[in-house]
Amino acid sequence: MKLSTKVKLTIRGYRLYSELFPWALTLTVIQSVMTAIQPFLNIFLSARIIDALVMGEPLQRVMMLVIAIVSANCFVKLTEHACTHAIAVKYVHWRNFSFPQLAKCQETDYEKLENAETHQKIAHLQRVINSTGMGLPRLCWAFQSVIQAVCSLLLSIFLMSGAFISVEGTGVWRVLGSPWLSVCIIGIVLAKCVLDIWWVNHYDAKGYQELGGYTEQNRVGDHYYQNFMTYHAGKDMKLYQMQKILKQEMAQIQMGFRRTTKACAHWSLRKELLCKTTDVLLSAVFYSYVAVKALFGAFGVGSIVQYAGALTQFGAAASLCFTGFASLSANARALSDLFEFLDTPNEMYRGSLSTEKRADRNYTIEFQDVSFRYPGTDTWVLRHVSLQFRIGSRLAIVGENGSGKSTLIKLLCRLYDPTEGRILLNGIDIRKYDYAQYQALFSVVFQDYRLFSLPLGENVAASRHYDAVRVTVALQDAGFGERLAQMPQGLSTYLYRDFDESGVELSGGEAQKIAIARALYKDAPFLILDEPTAALDPVAEAEIYSQLNAIVDDRTAVYISHRLSSCRFCDQIAVFDHGKLVEFGTHEELVSDQTSKYFALWNAQAQYYEKEGQ
Ligand code: ADP
Repeated sequence: MKLSTKVKLTIRGYRLYSELFPWALTLTVIQSVMTAIQPFLNIFLSARIIDALVMGEPLQRVMMLVIAIVSANCFVKLTEHACTHAIAVKYVHWRNFSFPQLAKCQETDYEKLENAETHQKIAHLQRVINSTGMGLPRLCWAFQSVIQAVCSLLLSIFLMSGAFISVEGTGVWRVLGSPWLSVCIIGIVLAKCVLDIWWVNHYDAKGYQELGGYTEQNRVGDHYYQNFMTYHAGKDMKLYQMQKILKQEMAQIQMGFRRTTKACAHWSLRKELLCKTTDVLLSAVFYSYVAVKALFGAFGVGSIVQYAGALTQFGAAASLCFTGFASLSANARALSDLFEFLDTPNEMYRGSLSTEKRADRNYTIEFQDVSFRYPGTDTWVLRHVSLQFRIGSRLAIVGENGSGKSTLIKLLCRLYDPTEGRILLNGIDIRKYDYAQYQALFSVVFQDYRLFSLPLGENVAASRHYDAVRVTVALQDAGFGERLAQMPQGLSTYLYRDFDESGVELSGGEAQKIAIARALYKDAPFLILDEPTAALDPVAEAEIYSQLNAIVDDRTAVYISHRLSSCRFCDQIAVFDHGKLVEFGTHEELVSDQTSKYFALWNAQAQYYEKEGQ
């Protein structure tokens, strides 16, 4: 990667970092300057105290110097700690490093979210942050290192400059006092710095490569941890005795993890060994140089402490400075991966037309010769579908499993766009409307809806703040009223026990009613229920349907159901078969045609309705 690209990525990274953690960089500058100053304060003032003692200066002056060293240390340490504390507690939380990815997922096309490649990219970015601290987290400590190192470099050059002053002399002194020896020492320091850069760059890049190889392993591992290590999965695991298979899977994943960690640790160890060993050697050279020069009387006792200390600090600072820059350079790859993900364009066209919030909810939706194939597949899931929804009507969509009913809803809500044909809202292609405004028109209960381990009220309102009266009414309308009365803390009762001991477990039917309540609370003009009563018993189903007319009110409702008895009350019924709309009409019209698909389905299920007493 070109240096200019690395610089651009790093600058962009810092911009994003400042947006995530305002003030954190300013506090880091103060903290780093304080960390840099402290050793020099001690070196300089200790040298002055030694000089004062050797020169026999009055005790008062010595005491003043002692007080100065103690107060300066207190000030520097307190300021440094205050900044560290503020950065850690108030500003920088590890989790927040994932916020940009989270935000991107929210706005990414649904089609991309369903894609395994996207899952892998997200898992890779998470793994990079958690395992190596590369990407945004590394910017934080690299910034600290660079600021601290630059300050230390300037201060050490200032404090040690006296050690390199050449002195005329003969014999051994000719060598010790020669400017060439000074140049030689400086050369050794610089050589060590160059080696440090190379090692850090080289070994960090190796570690990063190892990590990339195991992304898939880690993704599978995370999936197991998140989905199988919960008590929700406990029942199935016990009854199907899945412990053994899980144990084998986990062992395999553990092996993958171990290989990754071992490989990363291997490169990191090599880097540390080389850097630290040469650090020690460099210190030995510095100390010998200053000590021998002092032995020959080139400077006083206090100055030995100052030069030796400053020289050591210079070595450490130069190494830290280059390590910081080298680490930023190696980090550019992780930033490039992050920004590549954040910059992935949404391919779905998003228009800007307003959906005109109509008080009369007078919206019409029309499918015009719509055909659809899922991206990356060859099979037509929907073919030449033309359909119009009457406002305020109840439309039922029926058909066997896999006939394309749920896909039709995904197209209607613009989770996908048709491969051919178009969908119109009030005569205008839905692609031309503002995406968020368009989706606000639909309340949907999907087959695979999700409730969250949050309080009941927040689940229904999908928000921290909610209107308790409206939430209660929505729950009652969805048939959850009786259960709500039994909830220990009413709307504040947590669903599930992930975060709260007193959280409640829900039956499938109860959960579905809450999901329906959430759709009702949103109060959108279109209410879509995809198999809304699949988990309900026949009594609960009858109860919900008897209330549906009142609940739906002036909304346009679309029901997908495999129980045809549920559809009888609908104004229109659309029958799907292998992705095609094969019949359309009222229950009476369709059932009276004995050759119809609907008639066949109806007859096949009739015996169950009789058994259920419907
Ligand atoms: P229904 O709701 O009538 O049961 P769906 O609309 O869910 O049917 O599915 C229709 C067909 O589309 C099925 O063959 C299903 O396997 C396929 N399908 C559904 N989702 C996807 C997807 N994300 N990618 C590829 N194929 C899919």
